[in-house]
Amino acid sequence: MPAKDPDPVAKDLEGSGVTHAARQPVTSLYIHVPFCLSKCLYCDFYSITDCTNEWIGRWQRGIILELERIAGEAASHKVCTAPLRTVYFGGGTPSVLPHQVIGSLIERARALFSFEASCDITLEANPESYNSEKKAGSLGSLVAAGINRVSFGMQSSSNAILSRLGRRHTAADAEFAIAAASRAGFEHIAVDLMTGLPGQTLENILETLDMVRSLPVDHVSSYALCIAEGTPFDFLFRASPELFPQDGLEREMTYQVTASLKSQGFEHYEISNFAKPGARSRHNLTYWEADPYMAAGPAAASYMGGVRRCNPASLEQWLARTEDAGEGPFGMTSIEERVDEASARIETMVLGLRLLDGVTRSRFKERHGIDYDQVFGDRLRSLQGRGLLVCEKACIRLTEKGFDFADLVARELL
Ligand code: SF4
Repeated sequence: MPAKDPDPVAKDLEGSGVTHAARQPVTSLYIHVPFCLSKCLYCDFYSITDCTNEWIGRWQRGIILELERIAGEAASHKVCTAPLRTVYFGGGTPSVLPHQVIGSLIERARALFSFEASCDITLEANPESYNSEKKAGSLGSLVAAGINRVSFGMQSSSNAILSRLGRRHTAADAEFAIAAASRAGFEHIAVDLMTGLPGQTLENILETLDMVRSLPVDHVSSYALCIAEGTPFDFLFRASPELFPQDGLEREMTYQVTASLKSQGFEHYEISNFAKPGARSRHNLTYWEADPYMAAGPAAASYMGGVRRCNPASLEQWLARTEDAGEGPFGMTSIEERVDEASARIETMVLGLRLLDGVTRSRFKERHGIDYDQVFGDRLRSLQGRGLLVCEKACIRLTEKGFDFADLVARELL
């Protein structure tokens, strides 16, 4: 619980129930594309493999309706929107969409909300979408539509591992697609990697990092496999846990990724993310900085007016809600959490500590009208004493050891 709080601004914030994030204009948009050609064996993101024109058309109409309702109903729900700084098409596999669909959604969003001149517009893509001259020929139309950042799900350079994951691409497909994206003129190209995969070795990781070194990418996300309940990998892990790297080996893989990417000129700026100078993911920074964002599509999560909502993870149910006059983007049934001032302080700290820059004293004070020592004092000192946090005059951040125990740090700050 917060310590005794003599600050009138903090009192006002706590009393009013209106947090800093609730008052901030919303400048980021996430669009969930729920289509994949097949299901990877570890994945529990919401997507369907029925990528027919009919479904895509219904989804596109639903997105437009949802965006129109956000724009039209925001003011009456005390949500302020401003020209968008970031738009992110995630999935699913956004690159299975016809490019004119992507272009028309960008234009609709631009007309409804307007975009900052430097708006980051990202599309997640699978390498197999652009693994031949013919397919890659269409990349220019994405650039023309306004996409300026493309993020490829590369995962590994080992074809054996990719096949074990149920991915549809090979290492050669990833090389081809990324080179083609560079030629097509995207300003930023990102790749996702995975560690802790069945049968993965340190040699595999080093080969993957060598491949990254040869590619024109300026951003890398590297996530440890998380075994999601009910996925084929969940059953595989229960039946044959010895196929998966043990925790110690997985940590070693993560250290290798960090060391190699740093030596390649990437800045380690978030626990799992690395960027060349000027290439941090502006959209994901919105999440880590606990700032608001709007969202459209099934299973898409938004944070507007101090309320976290999540759309149903079902195309049918989402479409029905989108068309329901009593529901839509501000409906009561999609509310996951009303973030009050006490929770907002925890979010600023827990999410912000994922960033290597940590949480600055001035930013925390600006958002919450109180010094973080007054809110978390004893717990911060305890975590510092155990070597998990560095508390400097102007900021607080995780130590290298703290990265390995980020979940524990988060739990102790709750
Ligand atoms: S392509 Fe991505 S979203 Fe689709 S099933 Fe595979 S991991 Fe999941």
